[in-house]
Amino acid sequence: MYMLKQQGKAILQEINEDFFIEKEVRLFLKREDLLHDKVSGNKWRKLKYNLEAAKKEGHKTLLTFGGAYSNHIYATAAAAKEMGFSSIGIIRGERITPLNPTLSFAEEMGMKFHFVSRTMYREKSEPFFIDNLHNEFGNFYLIPEGGTNNLAIKGCTEIADEIDVPFDYLCTSVGTGGTISGVIASLPSTKVIGFSALKGDFLNNEVKTFLKNYGCNHSENWNINTQYHFGGYAKVQPSLIDFINAFKLQQGIQLDPIYTGKMMYGIYDLIKQGYFKKGTTIVALHTGGLQGIEGIKERYGIAF
Ligand SMILES: *Cc1c(COP(=O)(O)O)cnc(C)c1O
Repeated sequence: MYMLKQQGKAILQEINEDFFIEKEVRLFLKREDLLHDKVSGNKWRKLKYNLEAAKKEGHKTLLTFGGAYSNHIYATAAAAKEMGFSSIGIIRGERITPLNPTLSFAEEMGMKFHFVSRTMYREKSEPFFIDNLHNEFGNFYLIPEGGTNNLAIKGCTEIADEIDVPFDYLCTSVGTGGTISGVIASLPSTKVIGFSALKGDFLNNEVKTFLKNYGCNHSENWNINTQYHFGGYAKVQPSLIDFINAFKLQQGIQLDPIYTGKMMYGIYDLIKQGYFKKGTTIVALHTGGLQGIEGIKERYGIAF
């Protein structure tokens, strides 16, 4: 039984800024984006045990869901190819040709697409919808949207294992809430802050449900900050783009505009506001997602 291979090590990198010294705060970035060049960051963690289960159960095909620019679709297509699965992507919205960079990559990896309307897409977890997919595509191993399920959470419990400095806070970006659930489950006595990439505060309840289903009961040490979504999922503002570009120039690290850029902007802002007391050490996760930059450039005509 072979597993998804790791290509690089998720090293811990200290981020230095003059105002950190003044605030007496240290910040480290855990480079999960270096785990694999195509199956990036947290998607590698979330797929690892799912792919192992799919192999064990003798599946030949993976089926999953996502938007047309989804990091998860991109990662699943690449992981499927690497591990010898066929893959099917149920994509929200109409097929637009030529395919955008995310979908054309996934297609190159052999993924077959099935486009569904936004209305239908909302039904994707309903039994009738899944039954229809089985009628159309036969047998498959189903991976939910964003890759989040119990096995994904299990994979994400391993993220904090390798952090070899003492730290007070772990910060991560939040989409479906799978990654933060794994992190919370593995860190019963460390504060965890999630930075929501989406507008709204429903994620608190989602994460509570994921934790409960995972069998994790310590749920006091975390919160999800909803102040840094910049207008909502995949929305950007000039201040965010400027921040990402300045961060790259200063630190030599590329952040993505959908998840990690918003999180890091939020962390910088909270440090400036004095949210963290003197002597605090923060570890933030670079969860990857750099493939999404092309899509943002294409949609908004922005340069990075
Ligand atoms: C998918 C993704 C997230 C969100 O992870 P969830 O487990 O869905 O909360 C965060 N960062 C990046 C770069 C992602 O691709």
